[in-house]
Order: sequence, then C-alpha cells, then structure tokens
Amino acid sequence: MDERSKGENGKKVISMLVVLITIVVTVLFSSYLISKELEQQLQHNLEDVANQNALALHNKIHSNYQLLQSLSTEVQHVTPDTIDETLQSFTIFLEDYDLKRFAYSFPDGTSYSTDGGVANLSYREFFKRGYEGKGTITGILNDALEEHHDQVNVMTIPIYDEQGNVEGVFGLTYDSQNFNDALQIESFDGHGYSCAINDEGQILVAMGNDRFQLSENLFTDVLGTDERNTEAIANLQQQIADKSSDGGTFYLDEKHYYYCTPVKLLEGDVTWYMLTIIPADVLESRAAPVQQKLYLMALAVTIFILLGVVIFLMLSRERKKLMRRYAYEDPLTKGANYAKFCVDMRKKRNLQGYVVAMDIMNFNHINIAAGKAAGDRMICDIWQILAEELQPDEAAGHVREDVFVLFLNIEEKEVLIERLKRLSERINHRSKALQVRGIHARYGIYEMQGTEDLEDAYSKAQIAREQARAEREQHYVFYHEMDHEKLQQDQQLEERFDEALAAGDFEVWYQPKYSVASGEIVGSEALVRWREKDGSLISPGRFIPLFEQNGMIARLDEYMFRAVCRQQAQWLAQGRRIYPVSINLSRASLYYADVVDKYQAIIQESGISPAYIQLEITESAIEGRTGIRELLEKFRSMGIRILMDDFGTGYSSLATLNMRCFDTLKLDKSLIDHIGDQNGETLLCYVISMGQHLGLHITAEGVENNMQLDFLKENHCDDIQGFLFAKPMPVEEFEQRLNG
Ligand code: C2E
Ligand code: MG
Ligand code: MG
Repeated sequence: MDERSKGENGKKVISMLVVLITIVVTVLFSSYLISKELEQQLQHNLEDVANQNALALHNKIHSNYQLLQSLSTEVQHVTPDTIDETLQSFTIFLEDYDLKRFAYSFPDGTSYSTDGGVANLSYREFFKRGYEGKGTITGILNDALEEHHDQVNVMTIPIYDEQGNVEGVFGLTYDSQNFNDALQIESFDGHGYSCAINDEGQILVAMGNDRFQLSENLFTDVLGTDERNTEAIANLQQQIADKSSDGGTFYLDEKHYYYCTPVKLLEGDVTWYMLTIIPADVLESRAAPVQQKLYLMALAVTIFILLGVVIFLMLSRERKKLMRRYAYEDPLTKGANYAKFCVDMRKKRNLQGYVVAMDIMNFNHINIAAGKAAGDRMICDIWQILAEELQPDEAAGHVREDVFVLFLNIEEKEVLIERLKRLSERINHRSKALQVRGIHARYGIYEMQGTEDLEDAYSKAQIAREQARAEREQHYVFYHEMDHEKLQQDQQLEERFDEALAAGDFEVWYQPKYSVASGEIVGSEALVRWREKDGSLISPGRFIPLFEQNGMIARLDEYMFRAVCRQQAQWLAQGRRIYPVSINLSRASLYYADVVDKYQAIIQESGISPAYIQLEITESAIEGRTGIRELLEKFRSMGIRILMDDFGTGYSSLATLNMRCFDTLKLDKSLIDHIGDQNGETLLCYVISMGQHLGLHITAEGVENNMQLDFLKENHCDDIQGFLFAKPMPVEEFEQRLNG
C-alpha cells in the first residue's frame, strides 16, 4: 500500500507540475504575443508620428512656396534696371516669414537680392534647375551673396514669359539655422528625433537632437556609428530609391526605431525624406507596464500553484504519517504492533538470530483479580520492559492481548536464555506488585538462519510457545528441540476427539480406595481410558495435558461425570451396594459459569444421591481463579465432597489448604515415594497432621508397598489408593472386586 500511495502521489505531483509548466508557458507565450502586438502598435504609432512630422514639414515649406508663387507675377518681365525696386517691395515679407532675402537671377546668372548683393550664381545647381523649369529647395549651402558665407537654404522657382520660356529664376533664402528652428516639431514627448534628408542622405533639417548636424550626411553618419547599421542603411537607401515609406531599426549607441516617409515638396519637383527616430527603450517602455502586469500575473499563478503543490505534499505527508501510525502503532502500548515488527524486520540485512513468540501465563488472572485497567497497564509495562531490553538491530511488537513477538540478535543459545531469564525476572517483579500469583512469561523460540520467511518463523515460534505452556519446569521451548512427531500425533488425537467421544471410545476405569483402618473398599476414582479401534488403550497421560491445553477436556470431564452417574444409578437399580466415586475436574471445566447447574442437572437426571459423587480438583486448577471458593461451596452445599488432588506437587501452599472448601486431601504419589527417607517422612507426618487439624480427610495416592502402608497406618492416614491394593480397572472387573 505504501508503494502504491507513493506512486499515486508522484503522479499527482507530476501532473500538477505539468499544469504549472503549461500555465507558465502559456502566460509567457501570451505575454510574448502581447509584447509583439504592442511593439507593432508602437511602430504604427511611430509611423503616425513620422507622417505627421512629414505633413508639418510639407505644410511649412509649402506656405513659403506659395508666397514665392504669389510674388512670382511681380517679377515677370523685370529688367536689371527695375529689379532692385521690385525686390525692395518684397522686404516687408522677410521678417514675417523669417527669411534672409529674396533674389532674382537673370539668364546670364547675374543675381540680385533684397539685401543689395549682386553675384553670378549661374554655377549653382538651383539656377540650372530653374532654367530647366523646375522648382528647387536646396540643402545647406554657403551663402554666395555675402562675405561671411553663412549657411543658407534656398528655394527657387522658374519665372516664365508669355511664351512659356524661362526668363529668370526667382527664389528666397533662409538662414539655415532659422530655417531649421522654424521646422522644429516635437515628437514622443521630446524623446523622439526627426530629420529631413535628401536622396543623398544629406541632413537638411534636424529636429529635437543635436546628434544630427546640419549639412552632415545621415548615411555616413549612421554607418560610422555602428557597423551593425550597414543593412539598415542599405534598406533606407533602397527605400529612398523607391520613394516608399517604411521603418526599421539601427543603432546609435543603443537600438533605435526609425520610420522614413517621403515628403513631396514644390509640387513634386523635390522630394525630401522625413526620418523620425526614437530610442528603442523609450518605445518599449510604453509596453513595459502591460508586460510587467503580465509577468506579475505569471508569477502570481506560479506561486499560487507552487503553494498548492507544497500544501498538497504537506497534507499527503501528514496523511501518510497518520496512516502509518494507524497501521503500525499499537493502540494500547503506543509502540510497535506486529505489522511494524514485520516492517522493521524487512529492513534488516542480517536476519540471523532468534524469533521469540512470547505470552504471559495466566494473564487473565490479572484482569480477573485486579481489573481490566490493571491488565492494560501491565501490558504497557511489559512493552516498556521489552523496549528497554532491546539492543540495536533487534525488534519487538505487541501482537494482541498478552502476546508479544521479539527478534533477538544473539548468536549463542546460552546468552539468549540468560536474556529471557532477565526479562522474566523484570516481568515477575512488576506482576508481584499486583499481588496476582502464577504470572510469568513463556517463550517459544525459533532460530533464524537468515533465509526463512518471517511469517513462517513466527508461526513456528508460536508452536514452540504452545509447547512451553505445557512445560512445568522451564518457561521456554526451542522449536528445533521439539518432538515434532509427538506434535503431529497430538494433532491427530485432537482431530479424532469428537469422533471418539461420539463412538463411546472413552471408557471409565475405576481404581478402588481402601480404608487404612478396616482394609475395606470405601470408594473409587474414575479414570479415563481411550480405547483404540484395534483394542489397544491410550493412557490419560498422553491426551489429558493436550486436551487441557485446547479446552476439549471440559467436554471429556462432563462425559465422564455423566457416565459415572449413570453407572452408579445402574448399580443401584441392580440392587448393589454403591460407594462414592471421585471424578477429576480440570481447570477448563471450572471456567464455565453454569458448571454447578449443569452437573447438578446430570445428577438429578440419574436419580442418585450427590453423596455418591466426589470431585477431584488439583491446586493448579484453582490457582488465581476468583470466585473458586463460592463455586466449590455450591458443590459442597449440594452434598458433593471436594478432594484436593495431587497435593505435594508444584507449589502446594498452606493458603490453599486453608481455603476450607475441601473435604479431602489426596497426597500425591511423589510424597508417598519419599516414605523411607527421613526428611520425606517428617514432611509427610506434618502434612497429614496439619490436614487432620484442618478437619480434612486424608487419602494417600500411589501406595505401592507395605512399608508405605505401615507408615501411613502409623500416621493415621484415612484411605489408601494404590497398586498395592488395586490398579485402575474396567467396570466389569471392578464389579467383581465389589462382589468379592
Ligand atoms: P490422578 O487424578 O492423580 O489419578 C491417579 C493416577 O495415579 C492414575 O493414573 C492412577 O492409575 C495412578 N496410580 C494410582 N495408584 C498408583 C500406584 O500405586 N502407582 C502408580 N505408578 N500409579 C498409580 P492415570 O489413570 O494414568 O491418570 C493420570 C492422570 O490423568 C490422573 O491423575 C488425572 O489427573 C488425569 N485423569 C484421568 N482421568 C481423568 C478424567 O476423566 N478427567 C480429568 N480431568 N483428568 C483425568
Ligand atoms: Mg485424581
Ligand atoms: Mg492424583
């Protein structure tokens, strides 16, 4: 799942990034398009300005041309004698039109001017053109009619006689500087420059910039500034040759846009070219606010999406963390659960060591005696102990209830056992505080070679732990040391149990009990035997512990109980004398809340008196069991006597003896076997007398010889059950024994 969600997140992030990139590219591209569009608009703007400039230039020059035209009739037919007078009459216009002078040239070139100057100007181009019948406005010339030779511009028109022949050339002269000043046109808020050039590139008028010097040549001027201009100038020259309008860029320190438009003057006799120029940055700065907004928008969108991606990543990381917690955290201990243990193990390179399946024997005693909260606290304490005991490169997990799993990175078995012992001690220490007895850890151990499947190893460790539950002495079992053949047989026995019960393969055998005083039968114990199909017998030692582990024993006990009741009833019906028969009850049988009612019903069903039924219960069956006293009292109040079985094995305690809910103490064979050695006899002596002081009836089990019998007689033991008198026997044999 982890891998899959990782992949999904990756995909989401990638698609978000794709969207982000698409948006950024779109915004950048559209801002590029808009910039292009703006640039075009600005160029149109430049074109408009250039055309306006051209028109203004044209209009200004045209007004002078019109003046010249209107005065031309006055100079028709003038002669050298009358010219001065005629010209004098024109002087009133000089100031109004900011002109330097008017002049008239006769065919021989002799020219007269309003300021009195006379010179031969036949060499001048404008003179020659005049005689060709063409008007002219010149570029900058050096004044020929004056000593200082100031810079001037001259506009001339031909004067015709009635026959249409040119009889003179009439013109006006501007002071170049004044002329230039008069034609100033501002463009682009003073950032633009303009100039008028002729087809050779000579600058005739320069406006708004002192970069362009009158009389200089724009082509050479611009070419000289930057070599990148070669193409631009070539284009411009071609454009001038074609007399067309067009724009482009060239470099004057920095990039400039220009637009060039032809201006037809003097009714088409002269063409000037109006060039309007603007620095690129001025032009582009007009687009800048719009572009800035676009870029800001792109930036905002990018930040927005990036923020989205970051938030998404953070959220999904949080979610993953939470999910990991749910998946891997044990809700009770807040530590690792089994899934986390597996994950930790998967990360390990070296899996050589021991997998330990651990549980706590009689853990439910804590829940029963101290309450569920105390049980939960104990689990947390155990987890804490485990966590403290773990070495680096080891792992543990809380599987469920009182079940834990460990991986201990140890090479030597002895070291492992030492560590488990230490663990057990610490757990015992905690449980003692709760004052609940019989609590201790059990371990099933599987040795990993490093190549096994973990699940497999753990389930084997669990099998070993189940075995450890049955062990009395040691609290651990190594899977590799287990009798696997026996395990398999156990499994078969378990599988066959139901069928055998239904088929009546379980037989009740009776072992008589004798009075020490009279030597007569006083009762018997019912002992189960499993009759195989082939007639052979399986003894209870083989299957009782097994069925005690899995709880099947309760059904067998009930079966035995019912069989004994029926047998007693049958004997009664046959008119025989009957004696009390004791039946063994296991711990599991005592677990059912309705156990008393059930057994009472069975007795009532059989119709016998409860006095003929006795129950044998071992100390271990009641250990830590709350309410046992009340339960036993219920049986006793029915008239059933309770025998404490196997006294002298395990942890026989005075406290149990003192519970006062037993009628009989059955001394275990292991105590009887000590008859003959002094310490054993002393102990037995005390046990018997103590039991009798507590008002208990004393039965000795496993009496096999006369020495034991004599000792027991001497010490006033009440009854004897042992091979010395009789072994457990089938019902027919027991009947004969009763008859005999
Ligand atoms: P137990 O209740 O202590 O029964 C006495 C056992 O000691 C019997 O073993 C009996 O055959 C044996 N015994 C008696 N006298 C002598 C003797 O002089 N020498 C030796 N060596 N053994 C003697 P058995 O029948 O094999 O039963 C073993 C255990 O199985 C019983 O111990 C009892 O705990 C359990 N058991 C037997 N039948 C049942 C049953 O129906 N229900 C339950 N819950 N447990 C049963
Ligand atoms: Mg018994
Ligand atoms: Mg016994």
